[in-house]
Amino acid sequence: MDLQLNGRIAAVAAASKGLGKAVARELLQEGAHVAICSRDEARIEAAAEDLRKATGGEVLPIVADLTTLEGCRHFIQTTVMHYGGRLDILVTNAGGPPSGPVERFDDNAWQAAIELNLLSTVRMVTAALPHLKESHQGRVIAIASISAKQPLNNLALSNATRAGVIGYIKSLANELGHTGVTFNAVLPGWTRTARVDDLLENLARTRGVTSAEVEAGITAAIPAGRMARPDEFAAVVAFLASGRASYLNGVALQIDGGLSQNLL
Ligand code: NAD
Repeated sequence: MDLQLNGRIAAVAAASKGLGKAVARELLQEGAHVAICSRDEARIEAAAEDLRKATGGEVLPIVADLTTLEGCRHFIQTTVMHYGGRLDILVTNAGGPPSGPVERFDDNAWQAAIELNLLSTVRMVTAALPHLKESHQGRVIAIASISAKQPLNNLALSNATRAGVIGYIKSLANELGHTGVTFNAVLPGWTRTARVDDLLENLARTRGVTSAEVEAGITAAIPAGRMARPDEFAAVVAFLASGRASYLNGVALQIDGGLSQNLL
């Protein structure tokens, strides 16, 4: 199947590593030109170089802090300027908010999580929309989390802000579906990024077990019996970004090996 991604212009947020970088790589392999961002100049330049070497594709690294309105606008505007006013695909993403018991989070913690995970999505989409509407293959894919469908303990900040992202994406799909732009969310379950490796090691230290034992406890609840590889997640995002996904609009798609037990 030709995904019709060759020559498309994509902006993939928060992509110096992990899921964002895997998505950038997949889009590059399909022939798209990809702008990526994160806060640290050395890290985003290094990620861009890795991606160029791995795919031979054209990568534009941009330094932007997505917790600010200026950072979100800067990411989109720099991308659009570099590619002669064009933008076809926006993949929103950011780091995860801290974990902890629900009662521990004060007003500042809530404010920060809303800026990081909900407002960053709204701000990037708002800046990108005029350009996406001019594309024949306008796509927004928001990376959220399975916690939006099946809230997890100790992750109240994530549970609440990701659910907000789904509500926002659904509103966009409803109100702007007629423009031809599609708006969808993807909900990763356990995906083996460096962040998850760190998490497993931290849990292992706290519990006095090995990280393989912690992982076995987690994967026992996943029907697929294992965590995802980042490239498995990225392949689904690339399909949603493709010309072939033109009638998929307003979905919140879990990519979790069957972990979430909701019927819809
Ligand atoms: P990661 O920590 O490996 O990567 C996060 C990326 O975001 C990095 O490139 C980092 O530089 C960038 N970033 C963080 N804060 C930023 C900011 N303020 N401005 C710009 N860039 C910023 O995480 P990951 O595993 O790739 O996860 C990506 C997202 O998906 C996170 O929100 C995470 O909570 C969520 N998620 C991940 C999993 C998983 O299993 N990996 C599962 C569910 C949800």
